[in-house]
Amino acid sequence: MTETDLSHEATDICDQLPDSADVEPAEIHDKLTTLVEDYQVPTDEARRSIMNNYLDDTNIDPDDGDMENQTVSISEIDKPEEWVDLTAKVVELWEPRSDAIGQVGLLGDETGTIKFTAWAKSDLPALSEGHAYHLQNLVTDEYQGQYSVKLNSTTTIEDRDQEIEVGDNSTELAGALVDIQQGSGLIKRCPADDCTRVLQNGRCSEHGEQEGDFDLRIKGVLDDGDTVQDVIFGKEETEAVSGISLAEAQERAMDALDTSVVTDDIQDATLGQYYRVSGPIMGRYLLVDEFERLGQMDDPDQILIRARSM
Ligand SMILES: [Zn+2]
Repeated sequence: MTETDLSHEATDICDQLPDSADVEPAEIHDKLTTLVEDYQVPTDEARRSIMNNYLDDTNIDPDDGDMENQTVSISEIDKPEEWVDLTAKVVELWEPRSDAIGQVGLLGDETGTIKFTAWAKSDLPALSEGHAYHLQNLVTDEYQGQYSVKLNSTTTIEDRDQEIEVGDNSTELAGALVDIQQGSGLIKRCPADDCTRVLQNGRCSEHGEQEGDFDLRIKGVLDDGDTVQDVIFGKEETEAVSGISLAEAQERAMDALDTSVVTDDIQDATLGQYYRVSGPIMGRYLLVDEFERLGQMDDPDQILIRARSM
């Protein structure tokens, strides 16, 4: 978002506020800049938050009824850029990999766990491992089907003296791998700190041109006869399910001067096979932690196995 865009946005917000709000675009612009640039709050949400603020101050009900945050359970988080409240326990704290991050770790409730990040600049009180909190005004985020929540300068933290039994959000599913999607096979990830985005034509959408680190994955579709589920096999699982190691895949691609030979190999080894997979559901993906090969689609004995497993 450029400076000009933010100015336009600020003027636009100002125009939409009632006169009773009595506010200049410059003031809105400052708030907008802080939220968007310093706290990385998505522009839409920053805009909503600022409008809410002024509407609250002037005691005018916004037309839009759903501006209040919802207290959600972790498994309900399935969209990025939403404002939510959570009651959760700090399951783990991790070492921040950048100075911009104040705290990073895992929050858990009865329905599962989710990564959280608190910005250093937000200057929030530190969360303690093992403690429960009611957290208000978090922004959800999504990266490669994995959701996280961001604490920001508008977040409030309340201690909760309660025991939270953290749930396991692992799901098990058996079905045929009916599709292997683009972005499967030998890929390159951005090597920048805390990034890991997949490079497109040698470029990271955030960090520009990069050498990149090789990785292997399968983005596939598992069909259990009833429904289809998007699944992701990470590096270890892809190596195990396809029988092709990352080193072999790199060699194959180098010989052929083409990474698509690896995707073809993986496809030959896995497409149309039956698997029982388990792992957490993150957004639209089941992230495969464990899998078991049940058989092949055109093998009648194995179709019985499949029928029994359903
Ligand atoms: Zn990057």
